[in-house]
Amino acid sequence: MMRDEQRRQVYAAEDLAGEGTALSEPRTVEFLTRSTEALCRGRWWRVDLGCGAVDIALNRSEQRSYFSPLTRVISLSPQACDLGTLTHELAHAAAFDTDGYEPLHGPHFRTLHVQVRRAMLGTRCAADLLAVYRQFGLATMNAQSVVPSGSVLPTELYLQERIAGRPPGHHTSRRPGPPIAL
Ligand SMILES: [Zn+2]
Repeated sequence: MMRDEQRRQVYAAEDLAGEGTALSEPRTVEFLTRSTEALCRGRWWRVDLGCGAVDIALNRSEQRSYFSPLTRVISLSPQACDLGTLTHELAHAAAFDTDGYEPLHGPHFRTLHVQVRRAMLGTRCAADLLAVYRQFGLATMNAQSVVPSGSVLPTELYLQERIAGRPPGHHTSRRPGPPIAL
C-alpha cells in the first residue's frame, strides 16, 4: 500500500484555497469537459508534460471523485462538479503520466496541481494554491521548471469571483497582492 500521509492536509489546504472563489462554484459537465479538452490540447499538457487526453464523467457517489488511469476518465461526484475538484483530478492524471504517482498527494502531485491551476485559470489562482500549501507546510517541487503559458479560461473568471466571494477578513488583504512567481 502506498503511503499517502498528507492526503488529509492537502484536502484541507485546497478547501481553504477554493473557498468563496470560482473554484467551488457548481459547473455543468459540459463546461468542465470543454475546459479539460482545451487544457489537453495545449502544448504544455501534450508536449512539455507528455500527458494524454482525459475524459470527464459524472458518477453516482456523493463522496468520491477520482481519476482512473485505466480508462483515463475523471469521474466526478455530483456534489463536486466544480473547477477545484477538476484541477485536483487533472493533477492526478498528470502525476500518473509523468511517473510520479507515489505518494498520491505528495510534492510531485502538489507541484502539478499548482501548474494545472495556472494552466486553467492563470497565475493568481496558482499563486493562491501555492501560498496555502506553504501555509500548511506542504512542500512542492520546483514549480518553475516547466510552466504553462497562458490559461484555458479567462483569468478574470477567477479574479472576479475571488474578490466578490471572499468574506471580509477571510484573508489578510482583499486587494490582490503581488503574484508569487511560479
Ligand atoms: Zn486526490
